[in-house]
Amino acid sequence: MAATKGNCYLCGKELGKTAMKNHILKVHCPEQGQECRLLKIEGSEDKNYWLYVDIPLSSTLKTLDGFLRKIWLECCGHMSAFSNGCGEVGMSVRIGNFNDGDVLLHEYDFGSTTETLITFIGTVYRSQQRGVRLLARNAPIKFICRECASPAVLIDVQDYENKDPFYCRKCAEKNTDPDTVFLPVTNSPRMGVCGYCGESDTFTYAPRTPKYMWVKK
Ligand SMILES: [Zn+2]
Ligand SMILES: [Zn+2]
Ligand SMILES: [Zn+2]
Repeated sequence: MAATKGNCYLCGKELGKTAMKNHILKVHCPEQGQECRLLKIEGSEDKNYWLYVDIPLSSTLKTLDGFLRKIWLECCGHMSAFSNGCGEVGMSVRIGNFNDGDVLLHEYDFGSTTETLITFIGTVYRSQQRGVRLLARNAPIKFICRECASPAVLIDVQDYENKDPFYCRKCAEKNTDPDTVFLPVTNSPRMGVCGYCGESDTFTYAPRTPKYMWVKK
């Protein structure tokens, strides 16, 4: 599969992952203001899921953890942790303690773990605001119903390993096997895992919505 494109949430431009980083640095970085780190966030196993965010130096990893849970992880309040090559990094560590090029691994749920990679890209500035700001996100990946090739909205959880577990609603309704469990297709590396339904993801791209281009569900 070709690498997914995504949208800039500040101006709407559609670009690939690396081009998006260059776009953010070139177009959306004032030379002064609130000092932040620019982070690249990717699904560890499937890098077609990606985000760019900025976050103030004074924020902690706890704030970043909360954001990750909201946009693509939270199903039932599992434990989570950050680590680097040397071991676990505590939730109270501040973003300002990391250097450009540092990479962190975030793990959510130590049973059916979803792993996220966080790369510290560089120092950027923005107008004063709180917490994590979403700058860009991959466009939703289009999955196709295995029966009729319409756009898929559901995933057969038991069949996930078979690589073709996707169904449209109509074809899913024809499935009468009582053991089949469907979960919604989501724009998240946790799609199809545990009870993940993506209901706390309020960051769906919505062109022409003022200021931040996402819709509150
Ligand atoms: Zn832009
Ligand atoms: Zn769960
Ligand atoms: Zn179908």
